[in-house]
Amino acid sequence: MTTAPAPSAPAALRGHIVTFRGNPFLMPPQDALVDEPDGLVIIAGGRITHAGAYDATIAHLPPGTTVTDYRGCLISAGFVDTHVHYPQLPMIAAYGEQLLEWLERYTFPTESRFGDEAYATTIARKFLGELLRCGTTTAAVYCTVHPQSVDAFFGESTRLGTLMVAGKVLMDRNAPDYLRDTAQSGYDDSRRLIERWHGRNRQHYAVTPRFAPTSTPEQLELAAALLKGDDTLFMQTHLAENRAEVAWVTELFPDSRSYLDVYDRAGLVRPRSVMGHGIHIDEHDMCRCHESGCALAHCPTSNLFLGSGAFRLFDAMDARRPVRTGLGTDVGGGTSLSHLQTMNEAYKIAQMTGKRLHPVQAFWLATQGGAQALHLDDRIGTVAAGMDADLCILDPNATPLQALRAQMCDSTADVLFTLMMLGDDRSIRATWVGGRLAHDRDSGGTTGM
Ligand SMILES: [Zn+2]
Repeated sequence: MTTAPAPSAPAALRGHIVTFRGNPFLMPPQDALVDEPDGLVIIAGGRITHAGAYDATIAHLPPGTTVTDYRGCLISAGFVDTHVHYPQLPMIAAYGEQLLEWLERYTFPTESRFGDEAYATTIARKFLGELLRCGTTTAAVYCTVHPQSVDAFFGESTRLGTLMVAGKVLMDRNAPDYLRDTAQSGYDDSRRLIERWHGRNRQHYAVTPRFAPTSTPEQLELAAALLKGDDTLFMQTHLAENRAEVAWVTELFPDSRSYLDVYDRAGLVRPRSVMGHGIHIDEHDMCRCHESGCALAHCPTSNLFLGSGAFRLFDAMDARRPVRTGLGTDVGGGTSLSHLQTMNEAYKIAQMTGKRLHPVQAFWLATQGGAQALHLDDRIGTVAAGMDADLCILDPNATPLQALRAQMCDSTADVLFTLMMLGDDRSIRATWVGGRLAHDRDSGGTTGM
């Protein structure tokens, strides 16, 4: 089994700290923002020990610690991607179809290759390298139906020291023979993978029925049986992404009140459950998400690319019953692993629904909001003492156009807005994982790749 990196040496980063003290959908965005233009972050043992104004924090710097100078850049918590499929990386940008045909034509044939652990390891390595190039340090990741695809993914994540959530896809019907498990084999394989990986070296297991149409009621019940008795386990699946899919679920489960109710009856709607999309759901379901602590993953590039519909972000964040919500890239349905580009499309979808997505709200969703969606906000998503040192360094002057636009910025919020509208992987100056430099744009890339 792959070994985790040795404990990181003490380190310190100087730059413009941007993080959050609250949810900017429930309070004025400016009040939610923690903004320290000349800040210092001190790291030891993989965690942040101090974060604050440089002048006030420098006294805590252990003697001999090197300060990495990121002045001119922002120091943010690493991005949290709440919904993505690593095996679909090779088929990103597949032309022409909507969800159900897209799965048949492109996704299933691509996923068929992941029974080969060597191939799976190659793609897992490329995928994690791309995430780090995009400033993403944690993701909730679908593997394939093959247990080897999970071993490959967690093995690579362990090697890098990243905090990841992932699981074997459960799929015992309405899929090609070569990608089907059975309710019992899916249970047995998942049980073994949980024992092997869950809670070890920053890896977390998610029980992962792909979506209601590809699991029998028996498989959904066994998925819930896997979760029983362990509140630290995750569950991830898809919910109400596309209208044809919703109609199919109504046919397959005629006794259920709604698509969410299919999962609820099986016992899968709970804290640490993450539902991808949740576009076509009603008020009753929103309330159920709120009270259960389950989360929705908003995947704007995917929803636009596959023509699935417009997620009602501001409805989900309604102060009367806010639903835990994070951003997802949903590659390969999504068109980018960059959360900057994901925020860009989230802004446009909000505009289409008559709402303004404030840049502080967008960056909160990408960091602290995503961490809350996964119930991991006590460890990641915020730049503060005691948190894991998973950080991304954002460069507002990464391209000539961005440098030109940056001259017009008169507030931190405007700097954030230009980053989310014009930025991409070039805007990520560096990514730190567990207190260790994991990606450095200017020295040629990602370490350990
Ligand atoms: Zn998906």
